[in-house]
Amino acid sequence: MIPAAFEYVAADTTAHAVDLLAQHGDDAKLLAGGHSLLPMMKLRLAAPAVLIDIGRARDLSGITVDGGELVIGATTRHADLASSELVKADAPLLAHAASLVGDPQIRHRGTIGGSLAHADPAADLPMALVALGGSVELTGTAGSRRVAAEDFFTGFFETALADGELLTSVRVPRRPGVPWGYQKFVRRANDWAIVGAAAIGGRIALANMASVPMRARAAEEALAAGSSPAEAAELAADGTSPGEDIHADREFRQHLARVLTRRALEHLS
Ligand SMILES: Cc1cc2nc3c(=O)[nH]c(=O)nc-3n(C[C@H](O)[C@H](O)[C@H](O)COP(=O)(O)OP(=O)(O)OC[C@H]3O[C@@H](n4cnc5c(N)ncnc54)[C@H](O)[C@@H]3O)c2cc1C
Repeated sequence: MIPAAFEYVAADTTAHAVDLLAQHGDDAKLLAGGHSLLPMMKLRLAAPAVLIDIGRARDLSGITVDGGELVIGATTRHADLASSELVKADAPLLAHAASLVGDPQIRHRGTIGGSLAHADPAADLPMALVALGGSVELTGTAGSRRVAAEDFFTGFFETALADGELLTSVRVPRRPGVPWGYQKFVRRANDWAIVGAAAIGGRIALANMASVPMRARAAEEALAAGSSPAEAAELAADGTSPGEDIHADREFRQHLARVLTRRALEHLS
């Protein structure tokens, strides 16, 4: 459980982080909260030669309003999302999702950018962002580009981040007062979802039902056509082919997707 030797550099600003990424190339990894990267390094599943710490870049953190969107800096921590009055008012689904990530220690170190870039299909914030129809801003030496959450997750722990790019901020549509539901099935309180379901405004997203967080489109279409939540939820697992592990086989995950979607649609906040 001891990582391979590495060099450590701290970025003061976003621009500095982009420069450091360009300078160190493939040898480098960004370090945000470290709560996914450091366990992987200790298990020797990752062995970057250089860690670029973005935790001190003040321009990468914070929550602001830009017209109809919340703009959340990449290094904003889960605990700050969960307690932010702005997020609780305009995107309560996201605040709730952040409050369910791991335990207090993880929520006080882990960041939204780190969680999205890590792209674990079982994670809370990727599913929440897909349900909310959010997007991310990616910045490299060539400038910045915006990518919709659904296009950002490209495969199992894979994203649209190109070499030398940094996820700088997350944009979430402001939806005050729009009813939402969030269900996470776990074995222990601080675990990742065995399956998760998030619903808001006719959109439904699922965690751990594919290699990426996905929309339950058949259920969404049924809802739009006037089906009841229970009828629509019966279609939540349509087209899914989830993985199997010691916690659940494919059929049990598909059952959970139907049950959790029904609960998410019926128990709206
Ligand atoms: C015991 C435990 C329980 C957990 N439970 C849950 C849970 O219930 N739900 C859940 O969703 N998550 C859970 N997590 C994961 C937690 O949310 C992590 O904090 C999160 O996945 C990673 O965020 P981080 O800031 O720690 O990223 P890091 O570990 O620092 O980085 C993760 C990866 O993202 C890259 N990266 C980081 N920031 C950026 C950026 N701005 N731009 C580009 N790349 C970047 C890094 O290079 C690295 O590859 C748990 C973790 C642990 C250890």
